[in-house]
Amino acid sequence: MAYATALHCRECGREYPIEPNYVCDFCFGPLEVTYDYDAIGNAISRESIQDGPLTMWRYDALLPVDRDVAVDIGTGMTPLLKADNLGKELGLNNLWIKNDAVNPSYSFKDRVVSVAVTKALEFGFDTLTCASTGNLAGAVAAHGAKAGMRTLVFIPANLEYGKVIGASVYGPTVVTVNGSYDDINRLCSELADNHKWAFVNINMRPYYSEGSKTLGYEVAEQLGWKAPDHAIVPLASGSLFTKIWKGFNEFAKLGLIDDVQTTMHGIQAAGCSPIVKAYDAGETHARPEVPDTIAKSLAIGNPADAYYALKILKETNGSAHAVPEDDVTEGILLLAQSEGIFAETAAGVVVSGLKQMVVDGLIHPDDSVVAYITGNGLKTQEAVASSVKPIQIEANMESFEENVLGTLAD
Ligand SMILES: *Cc1c(COP(=O)(O)O)cnc(C)c1O
Ligand SMILES: [Zn+2]
Repeated sequence: MAYATALHCRECGREYPIEPNYVCDFCFGPLEVTYDYDAIGNAISRESIQDGPLTMWRYDALLPVDRDVAVDIGTGMTPLLKADNLGKELGLNNLWIKNDAVNPSYSFKDRVVSVAVTKALEFGFDTLTCASTGNLAGAVAAHGAKAGMRTLVFIPANLEYGKVIGASVYGPTVVTVNGSYDDINRLCSELADNHKWAFVNINMRPYYSEGSKTLGYEVAEQLGWKAPDHAIVPLASGSLFTKIWKGFNEFAKLGLIDDVQTTMHGIQAAGCSPIVKAYDAGETHARPEVPDTIAKSLAIGNPADAYYALKILKETNGSAHAVPEDDVTEGILLLAQSEGIFAETAAGVVVSGLKQMVVDGLIHPDDSVVAYITGNGLKTQEAVASSVKPIQIEANMESFEENVLGTLAD
């Protein structure tokens, strides 16, 4: 906060005070936080970061909120694991898994929400709300409970049961809406005109989105203060993708790492792939579509940050992939059975997409690759339910030998 000086328009550069505001009055461009990087550069170092808390709040100099007032449920500094088994399977010698499925509410959304809720409290809001594809609702509900705020979350009615429970358990008002995320987002924008509420991903969006930068910082720090050669990131609105890139580049600007050479790869599921389609067609904007995908956390048909994600894809010589719907579950199983990590459908998209990228020759086997795993598999059990088969026996040796022994691998 000490170093966040204003908001500015990403298009025309006009500056605005730090308030609950997200769109430029002049050109309707999105607003973003302005920082005093010279002052940050004088204040922080690798050592001062390493001396900070073992959470995302070790990077608070680069966030619009100070750590001592943060609504914090212990988010961040999740494991970066060397994935040798999966690497062998895919033909990669230097593959890393950033396991953000183990955050407090079991997705990376805790990072963005922790920042947005703290800001909402600072601005004096008493009600917290969001339009969600599922994980955001859980994160908002958890942080709303911690902050003691009135909390309402809006989710699509067809969401996985684990995500409905995963939000409801914290005690918010849960509203299930007949419609897609994009319908809900429209509804919430109308509600925002009539209620003085903090919509974490609408009027709090400039602050909210900054939380995702910590997924760039952490990976760079955990790799020994360098950015990876490749980052594999799931795309919904595209915000996470753009902020990981921003995180790497801010670290370079501050001299914490060398120049960033990372190639950025974005992955969607075929049933909702507006950003991938725009990339393939060489367009600068995505055409809205109606999502129909098993990867519900990524089901945004009208992605707010598509334009910026497409720019980064081009700038970094990256690639964009749409994973066939049938391959999503396969990706979940491959990750679970090679690395012992049970992640959600978005991770199935990432792992299957990465597999295809290696086949397509987009990644050299010795390059360092970080696959971002953003949500927990226990919330999307439906995706794998028909792939698991316990063996039912009676409680005696005979039944065990008859039904189980023959099925065991050598
Ligand atoms: C929300 C979400 C994303 C993508 O977020 P955007 O910033 O909207 O692109 C990725 N993975 C999971 C599990 C999510 O819940
Ligand atoms: Zn503007």
